[in-house]
Amino acid sequence: MIYKDFQGKQLSALGLGCMRFPVIDGNMAQIDEAKTAEMVDYAMKSGINYYDTAYGYHGGTSEPLMGKLLSKYPRESFYLASKFPGYDVKNLQNKEQVFASQLQRCQTEYFDFYLCHSVTDTNIDNYLDPQYGLLEYLKAEKAAGRIRHLGFSCHASLEQMERFIVAAGGAVEFCQIQLNWLDWTLQDAKAKVEMLAKYGIPVWVMEPVRGGALAKLKDDYAARLQALAPDRSAPEWAFRFLQGLPGVTMTLSGMSNMEQLQQNIATYATAQPLGEAELAELLAIGAEIAAQPTLPCTACRYCTEYCPQQLDIPKLIEIYNEEIFSGGYILPQAVARIEADKRPDACIGCQSCEAVCPQGIKIATAFADFCARMK
Ligand code: SF4
Ligand code: SF4
Repeated sequence: MIYKDFQGKQLSALGLGCMRFPVIDGNMAQIDEAKTAEMVDYAMKSGINYYDTAYGYHGGTSEPLMGKLLSKYPRESFYLASKFPGYDVKNLQNKEQVFASQLQRCQTEYFDFYLCHSVTDTNIDNYLDPQYGLLEYLKAEKAAGRIRHLGFSCHASLEQMERFIVAAGGAVEFCQIQLNWLDWTLQDAKAKVEMLAKYGIPVWVMEPVRGGALAKLKDDYAARLQALAPDRSAPEWAFRFLQGLPGVTMTLSGMSNMEQLQQNIATYATAQPLGEAELAELLAIGAEIAAQPTLPCTACRYCTEYCPQQLDIPKLIEIYNEEIFSGGYILPQAVARIEADKRPDACIGCQSCEAVCPQGIKIATAFADFCARMK
C-alpha cells in the first residue's frame, strides 16, 4: 500500500468509501453486514487505514455499521471520516444533535476527518449562513478535540468553491472533489486542483471511477486503451491517472464487493502513474465522451429519499443515458422491467430531487424527455 503524508499522519493513498457497500435485495438501506465485515477486515489487513462514511450514506445505516465493524480495532489503528449533512436545512438547525448522534452512531469520541458534505452552488449560502453558524460550531468542536481535521466535499463551481475556502478563513485543511479522467475537463476538475494548490489545500478524490461508469468502457474505447496496455483494467487506468496528479493525497473508492477491493488494493501496491502517451489517449477519449449529451449522474443516490414517488432516479438516468448512447433499442425492454408506478411517467415534476443533486442535473426535465422518447 502506498502511503501519503498529511500533517505527519501516514494515510493510505486508497481509502474505503462507505456509500456503495453490498446490499440485500437491492435495498440501499439494508447493507449486507457479513459481506461488508469481510471487506473491512480485508481492507484493514491490507493496509487501508482511512474509512469515509457520512450521515446520509445507505439511508443512514453506513455510520452505525462502520462504528460496529471498526470497534474491534484499536481506535488509533484507523482514521475515520464523516460529514455534516448541511445540504438539508433541518440539519443545520439542529447541528449539535446531528453531530452528537454521529459520534454515537460511529461509536467514537472523535472524528479524525470531518467534512461539510456536498457543498454546491445551490446550498452554499445555507452552509455559510451566520444564522446557522455551522463553521464556527465545527471549529469549536475541533478545538474541543472531537474533530481532528476539518474539510469539505464539494460539487460547486470553481468560483463558489473558492468562496467557501475564503469564507472558512483558513479552517479548511483538505477538500474532497469529484476527480477522474472524464471530469478533468467535463467538471472543471483540473482548474479546481490548481486552485486548491494555490491555497496549499490537499486534494481528496471522490468518484475516481465515476460511480462505476469508467469501470465499464464501450468496446472501442476499451480497445484503444488495451492497445497501449493490454493487461490493464479500466479501473486501473482510472486510478493510475490519479496517481500521477500532484496534490492528490487521498483517493476514495466506494467499493461494492471483495473483488473490486482486492483489485484496487493491488493497484495501490505501487505508484505507477500513466506515461505521456497513455495520458494523452485517455484524455482524448474523455473529450469524446464529454461531447455526448448524457447526464452526469454518479449514482450517489442523494436524491432518492427526497422523491415523493419513490423513483429509483439513478437507475432511470442510467437507462436514459443508455438510450442516448445506443439510439433507441434498449429503452422499451429496460422500461418494461420496471414496475408501472416507478417508471419515468410517474414523475410529478416537483424538483425535490434537483435541490440535492450535487451534479446539478435537471432531473424533471430529463424525465419529461424520457417520457417523450417512450412514445
Ligand atoms: S421531480 Fe420527479 S423524480 Fe424528482 S423528486 Fe419529484 S417526482 Fe421524484
Ligand atoms: S441524480 Fe444526482 S443526486 Fe441523484 S443519484 Fe444521480 S448524481 Fe446523485
